[in-house]
Amino acid sequence: MTIDGRPRVVILGGGFAGVGAAQKLKKAAADVVLIDHHDYHTFQPLLYQFATGLLETTGVGHSLRDLVHDQDNATIHKTAVTAVDFDKRTVQFAEIEPLNYDYLVLALGAEVNFFGTDGAAEHAFPMYTLSHALRLKEHILGKWEAADKNPALIEDGALNVVVVGGGPTGVETAGAMAELYRGDFARDYPNVPQEKARIVLVEAGPELFSMFEPNLRAYTVKALEKRTVEVMTGQIVASVAPTRVTLKSGDELEAHTLVWGAGLQGNQLVNSLGLDLERGNRIGVGPELTIAGHAEVFAIGDIAAITDEKAEHVLPQLGSVALQSGEHAGETIARRIAGKETKPFKYKDKGTMATIGRGAAVVQMLGGRTMKGKKAQLAWGTVHLALLPTNEDRAKAIVDWAGAALTHQRTGRITVTADKEGG
Ligand SMILES: Cc1cc2nc3c(=O)[nH]c(=O)nc-3n(C[C@H](O)[C@H](O)[C@H](O)COP(=O)(O)OP(=O)(O)OC[C@H]3O[C@@H](n4cnc5c(N)ncnc54)[C@H](O)[C@@H]3O)c2cc1C
Repeated sequence: MTIDGRPRVVILGGGFAGVGAAQKLKKAAADVVLIDHHDYHTFQPLLYQFATGLLETTGVGHSLRDLVHDQDNATIHKTAVTAVDFDKRTVQFAEIEPLNYDYLVLALGAEVNFFGTDGAAEHAFPMYTLSHALRLKEHILGKWEAADKNPALIEDGALNVVVVGGGPTGVETAGAMAELYRGDFARDYPNVPQEKARIVLVEAGPELFSMFEPNLRAYTVKALEKRTVEVMTGQIVASVAPTRVTLKSGDELEAHTLVWGAGLQGNQLVNSLGLDLERGNRIGVGPELTIAGHAEVFAIGDIAAITDEKAEHVLPQLGSVALQSGEHAGETIARRIAGKETKPFKYKDKGTMATIGRGAAVVQMLGGRTMKGKKAQLAWGTVHLALLPTNEDRAKAIVDWAGAALTHQRTGRITVTADKEGG
């Protein structure tokens, strides 16, 4: 409870889930405090477009303060969450005093899982945060600049990229990387024999996109190969070194870049909460998205294992699940504060979808209907535009996508380093 007697809602995490919850509390008679260790909301589904120069930073990151600027009851703090005590109803942070809460919303998302692969934590390039994507973009640009000065580096695999993971993150990154290489870079670096640069997608299972129908899987492989991506299925990465990737089969790939899109686990803070965790380190929740024994604590988005009324399985870690679960938690808290009845969470499935490249995407609807190609890309665009936090972001994304479709140009392929001399 705050000094003026209003309940305090503390929301941990400013992703789709946390922002969705905060915005649904706009009219509640409560003080809402949203905490994130960044001052921006990250739009993860488009990180690969940022890493490959299609979108600028503001296309994938939006100021969190801006997202609640018209919400008088909300405050943002930029600091890391370090501990949660459910019995004392307090949260501790790295840089601000602990906060008591009446309602707590856990929305800290997931993080990369290297599954203990030797050298991956040190040398792989994961793709789960804006700084990961920036690091990858700068690394790739650096490799091309180096190869332009010294083409002999190409023989050592300096431009080769191995992408691990045949799910949406891996496929989307490999497809976009191939378009960047064969399009923009081929024009940017006429003296570099770009055709020698390999983009290899490695998947441990027998097929890419195991969640999609067989016709979509076959289409995906064809669309990737058309873009010169080499698809290797049934192969597991055993170790990663700065310039080499070794597979369990013993084969060695010469590559100075390994992009990791192979696995997720719940945010590591969940290990300190004293809860029984579900598969993938996720927090199990009941129908109202609260944790067992604590009706005032909600877990939403990627950090939670959510099963809705109809679904017989745990919902996937998707932006739409995160946004809808966040909005539901916010609405439930607002209704409880107002003394109104609450309802169980029901997920509205808009289909599973992924994009492979320009004009190539796959969509699978709930009833099994499938789409591919340009039609699927349009559906993918519509669903992802709806997930973007503001109309301004939607307009910006449309302009960038339309520009890239017309000109085949990725304008974000520059590196800027902050330095005192301004050099
Ligand atoms: C590369 C990629 C591509 C994807 N593509 C798609 C797609 O095409 N379609 C789709 O629907 N979904 C996609 N997803 C999944 C989707 O982005 C996630 O399901 C969604 O972002 C989860 O939202 P969230 O709010 O639960 O977590 P997040 O978005 O991860 O937000 C968690 C927030 O918590 C903050 N945080 C974490 N730890 C701390 C701490 N200790 N202290 C303070 N703050 C902390 C983080 O900074 C972050 O802002 C993709 C994900 C990735 C990584």
